[in-house]
Amino acid sequence: MIRADFHVHTKYSPDASIGPKPLVDQLSAHSTIKVIAVTDHNTVEGYHKVRELASPYPDVLVIPGVEMGTPIGDLIVLGLEEMPPRTWDVTELVSFAREKDFVVIVPHPFREHGLGSSAKSYAVDAIEVLNGAASSRVNKMAENLAKELGLPGVAGSDAHDIDELWNVYNEVQASLDADEILKAVKKGLVKVFSSGKSIHF
Ligand SMILES: [Zn+2]
Repeated sequence: MIRADFHVHTKYSPDASIGPKPLVDQLSAHSTIKVIAVTDHNTVEGYHKVRELASPYPDVLVIPGVEMGTPIGDLIVLGLEEMPPRTWDVTELVSFAREKDFVVIVPHPFREHGLGSSAKSYAVDAIEVLNGAASSRVNKMAENLAKELGLPGVAGSDAHDIDELWNVYNEVQASLDADEILKAVKKGLVKVFSSGKSIHF
């Protein structure tokens, strides 16, 4: 079993301040959370930087990802290391991701920039039922949506600042391997947790 935060921004997102180096330092120092997905807004530049800095730490895993802004709301794609060649709508993005075996997550469906109930129209893999920057009311609505659709629920801190990292996290029935973790998420072998506060050292 591994513990992971599937929704982390770096300073390569225009609205976030987390530097790749402090992020890797915090991750390597953490006793149980050793996996993050870097999901910057519309770029994978931060992911590549973080992965490079994390390479000396064999117990740390950085999963590639992106939070794509679409005309109807945000969509997280995990597994993707290069940006799609152009901006796509949700239908095109989802079919592209399915073809490549990526994992499509609907982040904070009922918060601002969320897909809302229109998430029901797309063949996504999971719903973010616990967003660290959303109220418990809208997280509950997301949980209900996941149940209604029979989809796995995942957690993401949506950290934009360093003290927001992994305030919520996932336990995944998988070993420290990105493919295995992404497959386990698709199968629903994932549980979400809230640490109730940011973790400090
Ligand atoms: Zn985000």
